Amino acid sequence: METIAPFIEVVEEIKEAGGEIFRLCFQCGLCDVVCPWNRVRRFSMRKLIREAAFGLTEIDGEDIWRCTTCGTCPTQCPRGVKQIDIAVALRRVATEYEVFPASVKSARTARASLISEGNPLQGERKNRAQWAKDLSVKPFTEDMEALYFVGCYLSYDPRMRKVAVATASILEKAGVAFGILGDRESCCGESIRKTGSEAVFKTLARENIKTFVEMGVKKIIVSSPHCYHTFKNEYPEFMVHFEVVHINQYLVELIDEGRLTLTGEFSEKVTYHDPCYLGRHNGIYDEPRSVLSRVAGLELVEMENYKKNSLCCGGGGGRIWMDTPKEERFSDLRLKQARATGAAVLATSCPYCITNFEESRLNLEYEDIIEIKDITEIVCDMLEATK
Ligand code: SF4
Ligand code: SF4
Repeated sequence: METIAPFIEVVEEIKEAGGEIFRLCFQCGLCDVVCPWNRVRRFSMRKLIREAAFGLTEIDGEDIWRCTTCGTCPTQCPRGVKQIDIAVALRRVATEYEVFPASVKSARTARASLISEGNPLQGERKNRAQWAKDLSVKPFTEDMEALYFVGCYLSYDPRMRKVAVATASILEKAGVAFGILGDRESCCGESIRKTGSEAVFKTLARENIKTFVEMGVKKIIVSSPHCYHTFKNEYPEFMVHFEVVHINQYLVELIDEGRLTLTGEFSEKVTYHDPCYLGRHNGIYDEPRSVLSRVAGLELVEMENYKKNSLCCGGGGGRIWMDTPKEERFSDLRLKQARATGAAVLATSCPYCITNFEESRLNLEYEDIIEIKDITEIVCDMLEATK
């Protein structure tokens, strides 16, 4: 058998970047069996880990950027290898040397925009609250029940702004005393961290934490599973703890407490897509289904892959900013799964999922077949029917 001498310096760099756990891998290949990439093209996390262990990583290649951090393979690994940590470590090394393949270049634009404006979409910071200009949403003050942390896509993206409006309308109708941070809100930093830009993440996190503390924030309502994950699981690294509630969890609470009554009817077949960062990463599977089940007339049907086996949309790990060829998009597969259920609506709760699904809907020419909706959009319509 050929013996390969490890490139010790490269191995050390990967370890220092946080990828040391590669030493546990015994190359069984189970991660490759479950990885969604292998539904659209060949990709081997096992091989990536093997190469890292020997210091043979192609740091300028595409493969280190593929992992969407969907969380599927870590649940399967018999050795407890944290594959996402290894992928992020490899990206940190590539970022350190500023080597990026062509498909990753647009993530550099997102990074620059995060540094200058606090969002990845090249929106001006002063326009962050423009989505709310026709609403009576107030700036957050300490005496309020909760902060609504809107997030970047819901603040700037035209499709996602509708979700911000729906969410704010629901909270207002339920009588929740809430406010927003406006131009003092910065990106949570989750996705840029997964692309290896640790320093940018830390700057964004510190900005937000400073604002939360200065403004007396205790409870934070979020729309994005990525904000949820970061505030709940990553901001405690800075020795702070805030009560973080995803809007789906909060909707169940509001309905149970009688603060929100859904009186409208939505007589459609609906299927629900579990976003990776709400489901697999944070175990929130029941609340979104519970909200949908309270809507009169709505028939909930499941797709082939659901709950912990949900199929990633392809947008996590910073992939939302990278170029993916049409034939390699997981979101196309997901839409086909949704279509197979006969559902007229694909409901979900994540800005990346909605962005990818809307694009696949056009690519597949499904415009007349299926609609993509955030759960808040369905709920908001049920309230409007009561006017
Ligand atoms: S499942 Fe775990 S042990 Fe098996 S190849 Fe993947 S990382 Fe290695
Ligand atoms: S986390 Fe998901 S995308 Fe990344 S290697 Fe594992 S299964 Fe593939």
